Amino acid sequence: MMGRRYGGDAVCYDVVKGEIMDFNLRPAIVIWEVTQACQLACVHCRAEARPGRDAGELSSEEGFALVDQVAGADAPLMVLTGGDPMERPDIAAFVRRGVERGLRVGLSPSATPKVTPQSLRELKAAGLHRLALSLDSHLEHKHDAFRRVPGSFRRTMEIARDVRDIGIPLQIGTTISALNASELEPMAEIVGRLGAVLWSVFFIVPTGRANPALMISAEVCEKALYQLHDIARVAPFAVKTTEAPHYRRVVAERTGRKPASGVNDGKGFVFVSHWGDVFPSGFLPVKAGNVRERPLGDIYRDSPLFKALRDPGRLNGRCGICEFRTFCGGSRARAHAVSGDPLGEDPLCSYVPEAPCVAEAGRSTQSSPPQRPPRPPSATHPPHPEAPTTPPPAVRAE
Ligand code: SF4
Repeated sequence: MMGRRYGGDAVCYDVVKGEIMDFNLRPAIVIWEVTQACQLACVHCRAEARPGRDAGELSSEEGFALVDQVAGADAPLMVLTGGDPMERPDIAAFVRRGVERGLRVGLSPSATPKVTPQSLRELKAAGLHRLALSLDSHLEHKHDAFRRVPGSFRRTMEIARDVRDIGIPLQIGTTISALNASELEPMAEIVGRLGAVLWSVFFIVPTGRANPALMISAEVCEKALYQLHDIARVAPFAVKTTEAPHYRRVVAERTGRKPASGVNDGKGFVFVSHWGDVFPSGFLPVKAGNVRERPLGDIYRDSPLFKALRDPGRLNGRCGICEFRTFCGGSRARAHAVSGDPLGEDPLCSYVPEAPCVAEAGRSTQSSPPQRPPRPPSATHPPHPEAPTTPPPAVRAE
């Protein structure tokens, strides 16, 4: 949601402030789960959202204080998510407060009747930077089955039209799972038709309600990343991935260009729960502190967990010996969900590191080098002449 970022290991370019960011010092994105209340019941919901608001969620005053903490942490972007953030009557006030504090503020509401043209106009007047809607299939009945509420697909289309008419930049988010991994092309077509500026493609992590059976294989993931890169080369919208930082490796392999750094769990990215608990990601449920007790910036900079996640030298398994680890590093959330080790290897990456040095190889959890898998057919295509000069950022917004 910030535009392109360029940089090395733990730094990137902040296009909002026009300066280099050091992820060791400040996050690029803060996601705040303002509530877990939601009228939908999605099969892959990270938050395991429920219909009613929790009495322990941050109050309005605590919310304003958190927004100030986000600004104090020098983060350029804050995204208000849920549950459904529209369940909170003070949501536009949070947007306004963030904008007043110099933040870009995004919002990811659920597609319910609460998102009216009137509420959208209020959000725009408050200074909303972008609104993100979820779309998990190009087929109406299939999307509704994901959301477990009939009519969700139509409501999403209606809201997308209103968002566009009112003049708020639109983002579409899609969660890739075993149920829809073959639908990238038709879904990209819809994203383009809706006039979205960004397609945010999330690769499922088995947390919350997301059953491990929804996981895709590393081979299917690799094929999807190649497809996404093909789409990104010609689409009228930008493409980014979430919980698939190896997209940067795929782009580097196909273009031959040095990859840009990007955010990863705890590295440029921080998640604050409805209770104020701080996590490296909404999909990595290892708590590092609480904003009611300690400022967000302090937790982000100083917690041993966040520091370890930002250190590629601490990674284990294939990620620990991989030549791409400084700018990829694998999904820390998925490593934790599958193995219990947030520093373990990402099981959704099929890459076999080229030639780890002896010292690094000694840290590998594998007893013998795995065989390099065949690349998808499109891997042999030459770089597209209109390929970006650097890979698309893997900045997440939900
Ligand atoms: S092995 Fe790990 S660090 Fe290397 S490309 Fe795959 S996910 Fe990234």
